[in-house]
Amino acid sequence: KAQLDRGYLPVITPHIGNIELYKTSGHYEKYSKDQFPTIKLEDDKEEYMLKPMNCPHHIAIYDAEPRSYRDLPLRLAEFGTVYRYEKSGQLNGLTRVRGFTVDDSHLFVTPEQLEEEFIGVIELIKYVFTTMGMSDFEARLGVNDPESDKYIGDMNVWAKGIAAIEAAANAADMPYTIEVGEAAFYGPKLDFMVRDVLKREWQLGTIQVDFNLPERFELEYTGEDGERHRPIMIHRAPFGSMERFIGVLIEHFNGAFPLWMAPVQVMMVPIADRHI
Ligand code: ZN
Repeated sequence: KAQLDRGYLPVITPHIGNIELYKTSGHYEKYSKDQFPTIKLEDDKEEYMLKPMNCPHHIAIYDAEPRSYRDLPLRLAEFGTVYRYEKSGQLNGLTRVRGFTVDDSHLFVTPEQLEEEFIGVIELIKYVFTTMGMSDFEARLGVNDPESDKYIGDMNVWAKGIAAIEAAANAADMPYTIEVGEAAFYGPKLDFMVRDVLKREWQLGTIQVDFNLPERFELEYTGEDGERHRPIMIHRAPFGSMERFIGVLIEHFNGAFPLWMAPVQVMMVPIADRHI
């Protein structure tokens, strides 16, 4: 409901995909070592793997038809389950599992829309955390390390992206610290650190600006000027992993959820036969 009110379009994508999709996105290279074996049927030329990330699937939806600036921003949202082959020794309760569901969304925006869309996402994340009873949180802005060459893309575009995030955080009244070298290799990001009742810090929500995947998939839209332009992607997940978030919530409330969130809200206990 919170997403529908904010103009998101709910989508559902498959749990497996053609590995070519993940080769194009770069996820195959990154995740194939930590993934279940690929699937290949005898009479089929195609090879599939369990979905390591939702992003390439949402890109396929974007790319399924020609886009114009009038279609943007396009906000695709999915509670999408992704898979990792974590070694059995690394599995841990709800926080480290082999299949987890991301409250994922990808926003395809024009450069001019980046700041405003980013403000909208910060506000949604604040709404999610405060509704869940977690009011002690702050943001960390991960920017590139100018000494390093691991980042891809035009550094002027990076600088504009960072400026847009800073302006958005200020406009949304969201305090943040700047962490040099903490950006993703494909773009700057804003991570949300939440403190639970015991003052333990958890990294939950994240918003990432991505200049890379639109490039790799050669995404385009027709601008007002009739020319072809490349959109910018925003990846965002307020809860992060739903499993992990539930794990953090159980710790935060020490098992005693607020009434509206409790799986069992009221229990009647008769103390004598006549009460039955
Ligand atoms: Zn993504």
